[in-house]
Amino acid sequence: MKTTSGTSKAAFYLRKGIYELAHHRPAKALALLRQSVEITPPSCENDLSKALYWLSIALLRLDQRELAVKSLANAQKIRRQSYARKVYVRNINEYGMLKRPTRELDDLYAFVSIQLSSYLLKKPQHRFGSQAEHSAVLKLILETWKQLKDSDEFKSLECGEKLLLFRKLKIDFPIFGSYSTSPRYSERFAMNIASVGMRTCSCGSGLPFEQCCGRVQGLSEI
Ligand SMILES: [Zn+2]
Repeated sequence: MKTTSGTSKAAFYLRKGIYELAHHRPAKALALLRQSVEITPPSCENDLSKALYWLSIALLRLDQRELAVKSLANAQKIRRQSYARKVYVRNINEYGMLKRPTRELDDLYAFVSIQLSSYLLKKPQHRFGSQAEHSAVLKLILETWKQLKDSDEFKSLECGEKLLLFRKLKIDFPIFGSYSTSPRYSERFAMNIASVGMRTCSCGSGLPFEQCCGRVQGLSEI
């Protein structure tokens, strides 16, 4: 009984959420769709996938792009034969991030996102202490990127290899307050990169791991 009423409540929130979206009230829709996702039992895969799909649309309308991708990624994982899967595959790149106009921008966004996340994860509350710190860290990441992208080693890499490199490469960030401008690598990027083949994701989605559970997460997700 409880499950039935939970399911019909979830369906009610979903319908209302879609209605609010259609009437250009994405913030209202967001709250309703979140509720729908929360109370849909995981066994109702079709409904859950649908609710996550519409949640991603609401997030996109509110310009919360990273969370929209996360929601869509979860929607497509649950239902392989879904519209969510089609939309997801059409809009994401090999890093599992939103496609940018060029391959180089795809690389840049993945690199910056991975480096910023690894920096912020070590900070209290995963936040910058000040705007100055934010700018300094970003500047250092971009300087490192410039050196990296122009190197011959980098140009010859496949996406999976680049991803491994982005994750292995540790920028020697200064303790904030004693900021020095010379970027240094703790390991040179001419490191051994084990050859990485395209692995199918172990969650059973059928997509490559890098585009599914191993996708590059956005900063809003940490
Ligand atoms: Zn997966």
